[in-house]
Amino acid sequence: MKFEVIKKETVMMIPQQEMAERRISSEIRLDPLTGRTARICHFMNLQWEKPDFNALVSGTESWCPFCPDKVHAITPCFPKNLIPEGRMQKNDMVIFPNIAPYDTISAVAIYGARHFIPMTELTPSLMASAFGFAQDFFRRIENTGHPESVYHIVNWNYMPPSGSSIIHPHLQIFSSSTAPNLMRQELEASKRYMDNHGSCFWEDLTATEMKTGERYLGRIGRTHWMTAYAPMGVAGDVLAVLEDARCTLDLTAQDFQDIAAGLSKVMAEYDKMGIYSFNMNFFTGTGTDDHFRFHLLFSPRTFFSQKLGTPDVGALQFLFNESICLAHPEEIRDTLKQGF
Ligand SMILES: [Zn+2]
Repeated sequence: MKFEVIKKETVMMIPQQEMAERRISSEIRLDPLTGRTARICHFMNLQWEKPDFNALVSGTESWCPFCPDKVHAITPCFPKNLIPEGRMQKNDMVIFPNIAPYDTISAVAIYGARHFIPMTELTPSLMASAFGFAQDFFRRIENTGHPESVYHIVNWNYMPPSGSSIIHPHLQIFSSSTAPNLMRQELEASKRYMDNHGSCFWEDLTATEMKTGERYLGRIGRTHWMTAYAPMGVAGDVLAVLEDARCTLDLTAQDFQDIAAGLSKVMAEYDKMGIYSFNMNFFTGTGTDDHFRFHLLFSPRTFFSQKLGTPDVGALQFLFNESICLAHPEEIRDTLKQGF
């Protein structure tokens, strides 16, 4: 397992200090699987201001399509050959087709009736139920023999900085034969790694991270938690790898509880940094992808300038897909470890 880094140093003269020389270091890290690069730079204290949530959320219930008075009236229904009852329902959770589909089988799962749930109130039991319910949907699709029932993906945009246009907590869930870019690159690179090394990258990564401990947060059941070596988020990424699981359909109810427990610890620590928004994706193979392990990536989302509403994604990230992280993932791990 190679953790490659290219160290850089910038020299500048500072007029406020009689043109004293200042040296500023940065580094470029290569993702050990795909070689994707990430820059660790602009070192700063990872602390942001949370907004006035009352002002942010106030009034959004009146037009929210996911609130209980509307979700059963205005959201679309599945055709009878997929989900005969139209919308899936479990307690107050609902799954219905995404009116703006990303793929043939593209749905939305609502966490429940509550319109706004602060990040620290996303309890493990709530998240575990929602993930389990999403899996119920995937199994129903799988049982129809649909040709798109290949990769079963959960995407989570939580709160507006993450790309969510609706406050009401929900998951984007879809089944697709077309793996999204980074997942496809990981699947291909994992296959190459197994062909070249005769072992599974994800097992080797977990073993290495556990051994060095530099980025390893801990283990819950068969989930292994760590900060990513070459993160995509400005405040790092948290990676959870599932032992022995290749795909979303391999996960058990206990796995979902363990995933939810880990996520809630991570959220509690990021909350202390003033973070209140994140993306979380499932990365899945198929049931026969022995070279792959199911994993999820949690990436906190924030602003470069909160005052101006400047998002944490600029040209470097958006057009070059070159990410920037404002602290070393090993330091972020030490902060997050306090809650683990
Ligand atoms: Zn709502």
